[in-house]
Order: sequence, then C-alpha cells, then structure tokens
Amino acid sequence: MRALILSDIHGNLEALLAVLAAAGACDQVWNLGDVVGYGASPNQVVEQMRAVATLSVRGNHDKVCAGLASAAQFNPTARDAAMWTQAQLSEDSLEWLRAQPAGPLLCQNDTVALSHGSPLHEDIYILNIRDAWAPLQQMQARCTFFGHTHVQGGFGWEAGRWFEVRPLQQRRDDDRSQWALSMEADKRYLLNPGSVGQPRDGDCRAAYAVLDSYAKTVTFHREPYDIDLAGGRILLAGLPERLAKRLHQGR
Ligand code: ZN
Repeated sequence: MRALILSDIHGNLEALLAVLAAAGACDQVWNLGDVVGYGASPNQVVEQMRAVATLSVRGNHDKVCAGLASAAQFNPTARDAAMWTQAQLSEDSLEWLRAQPAGPLLCQNDTVALSHGSPLHEDIYILNIRDAWAPLQQMQARCTFFGHTHVQGGFGWEAGRWFEVRPLQQRRDDDRSQWALSMEADKRYLLNPGSVGQPRDGDCRAAYAVLDSYAKTVTFHREPYDIDLAGGRILLAGLPERLAKRLHQGR
C-alpha cells in the first residue's frame, strides 16, 4: 500500500497540482488539514482534494474559513486571508470543509494516526522534542503523521531515547529531491510531510511524503512548482503581499 500524505496545502493550486503529478499512482491519499487559507485558489483546491482524499482531518484554518471557529487567535495577515477565503468559498466547499473530522484519525489497523497538530490536541504545534515527548509515548499508533508547523521531518522514540528525523534533501538536476526513512518495528514516530502550499523550513519547493507499507519506508519529497504564478494570483486577489513573498522565501 502506497499512501500519499499531504498537509497544509493552504489554497495553493499550483503547488498541489505539481505534487499530485509528481507523486504518480498511490493507493490512498491522506490529508492532514489546512486545505485552505492564505492561497488564492480555495475552491479549486477543495475540489481536487474532495476528489482524491481517502482520509482527511481538519486544520485550524479549515475551521476558521468554514466558520466553525473564530479568527481571534490568528495574526492580522492570517485573519485577513481567512476572511477573504470564507467570502470566496462556495456552498459545496464550505459543506466539505465543515464535515472534516478532528484528528487524530486511526488507520492501517490502528498502527498509523493522522492529525493536524499534536495527536493530543489538534491545535497544538509540535515544534521540538518537548512538544513531541508526550505524544510519542501516549499514542497507541506506532506512527503518527502530523502537519501544522509547515516543517518537514519529525521525531522518533526508541527504548527511552529520542531522535530527530531530518530529511536530507539534495537537489537533483531537475530540481526535485527525496529522502527515505526506513521504519523500524521497535521505534515510534511522529512525522510531518511538510507543507504543500506554504513551506516554512527554508526550502520553497512543495513538500509531501509517501508511506510504502510493503517496503516499510516513508519517503520525504520536495517538488518545484510555479511559485511566480501562485504568488501573482495572491497579489491579484488582493490578499496580503507578505503571503506572496513568503512562498519564495520558504518561510
Ligand atoms: Zn497550516
């Protein structure tokens, strides 16, 4: 079974289409939330995801843009983008977003969990081992995939010792890259595929991951896409300029 794992697409259609094309055929597509918010193509991205996603959990931006939560916790840029997105969303898109469940969602015979933020609470960021410590020990699933931080990689735990998972992405001639992690039976993992539509780990290429349950690997990918087009459409939509700029910066 090959599962394509996508998180934090944030209304970036150009990045999503590049990732779907590059990933090729997969048995399942898992969506870790924040499908909308920030980017200029919320309806088109929802349409794509409702067609391909096998399993989905909601993100904090999905909740706010769908009118299920207040934007009071958001910074002014995120709030402006959420209000713009909410006004753009069609009834069909709103309905799909409102139906997304809160994580964690268990799958693969309870060996895998999907969540937006921490599996202990969907809105909590897992930025470092301090944040990862409790979920690594409390989750019944051996491997939890999460998003929310827009940083590819994660954390692991083995016999009382923890380690970081830092994908070594070396660009090939075609500007793509990938790095595979072998999953070991006696280890526990918290893994972030990175953000498709707004990476914040210093690499502006779209990020995603593929779980191969036969090979027992998780492969972390980076895929170039037309950032100028995605950024230009953010500017034309009247969304904050910073949202276009940060796509180039990968921050
Ligand atoms: Zn996000």
